[in-house]
Amino acid sequence: MNKNIDVLVIGSGQAGLTMGYYLQQTKRSFVLVDACNQIGDVWRNRYDSLVLFSPRNYSSLPGMTMPGNPEGFPTKDEFADYLERFAKYFSIPVQLNTKVERLEQVDGKYKAITSNGTFMATNVVVATGPFQKPVIPKVKGIDSKRIFQIHSSEYRRPSQLPKGSVLVVGGGNSGTQIAAELSKNRQVYLSTGHEIIFIPHRILNRSIFWWLDTLRFSKISVDAKLSQFLKKTEPVIGMELKSLIASGMVKIKERTISIHDQEIKFQDGAKIKVDSIIWATGFDFDFSWISIPGVLDHNKPIHQRGVSPVKGIFFLGLPWLSRVGSAQINGLKHDAKFLSKYLN
Ligand SMILES: Cc1cc2nc3c(=O)[nH]c(=O)nc-3n(C[C@H](O)[C@H](O)[C@H](O)COP(=O)(O)OP(=O)(O)OC[C@H]3O[C@@H](n4cnc5c(N)ncnc54)[C@H](O)[C@@H]3O)c2cc1C
Repeated sequence: MNKNIDVLVIGSGQAGLTMGYYLQQTKRSFVLVDACNQIGDVWRNRYDSLVLFSPRNYSSLPGMTMPGNPEGFPTKDEFADYLERFAKYFSIPVQLNTKVERLEQVDGKYKAITSNGTFMATNVVVATGPFQKPVIPKVKGIDSKRIFQIHSSEYRRPSQLPKGSVLVVGGGNSGTQIAAELSKNRQVYLSTGHEIIFIPHRILNRSIFWWLDTLRFSKISVDAKLSQFLKKTEPVIGMELKSLIASGMVKIKERTISIHDQEIKFQDGAKIKVDSIIWATGFDFDFSWISIPGVLDHNKPIHQRGVSPVKGIFFLGLPWLSRVGSAQINGLKHDAKFLSKYLN
């Protein structure tokens, strides 16, 4: 069955839902489609102990404040349930269990072939998230069968790992949180190719998000010189790992360069033996389902503040779409509101 609409939004995470909120205020017909079977599943499927680094008052979508202590930090399931309530409250039309398998241009419109019907739309907003395809670097000896290895996206809880020491590779927010959790009952090594910059959750009794807002950091555009610097040095929010490193519970190692059986070698020549490795080495985009010339360059979206040079195609929720917080809950609304003006 072909459904004809003004706007198709692909993805019903925080980005898709925020777009839906602004579309509700227009006369355009629209629908959100999502491959998952429950709104918020991306969050439910993240590791059990995950607590958001943004407090509730900076984890709310427009028009609906997250209930609970505004200065407190929501759990991942709490945030997932909030997203679901948000969609219901604003009656945002969402069709779940609908994976877009191909997006093409037909007679000036866009045709989305999905696992659950075909849609024809004048505009398409791609809100499929910043973390699509897990990346594990091609380290020499990576196929060693003597070590249990998973990507951070598959990590749920410590009991998943065999007994013994673990190497977490990657010094970003996920890697550092997982390393801190595992260090409670085993030796943990954390391998990182750069110095970790920690920023506390609170400074002078105010949330770091309050400071970023007040000092107007969150408004700095992607093109500003400061943004170029910040892009290279994504800080870790929270100081827990810093004290675990100081007490020796987590040992920092340089970049991982090779694996031989259970032995890991690092850039400075140091070697250790471990039982498990968690690759917290990030994600790549996967837009292989978009078959429209001019939209992608080597699988990366071509856009200016989310507006594609191909009329009627838009991206939302990508890191640095327009500013530092573009892929975060609180930073999205500016981009969604901006895009809503460009729709045909
Ligand atoms: C561990 C972790 C912790 C984080 N903590 C915070 C935090 O505390 N605060 C904060 O502001 N940000 C945080 N972030 C960053 C960001 O807020 C989240 O990554 C968030 O999930 C991004 O929302 P999104 O809507 O852009 O994408 P997603 O939540 O990834 O949603 C994308 C949706 O698109 C769907 N989809 C994908 N491809 C298709 C397709 N082809 N067809 C149909 N549907 C499709 C998916 O099923 C999914 O539901 C965190 C990220 C991670 C990884």
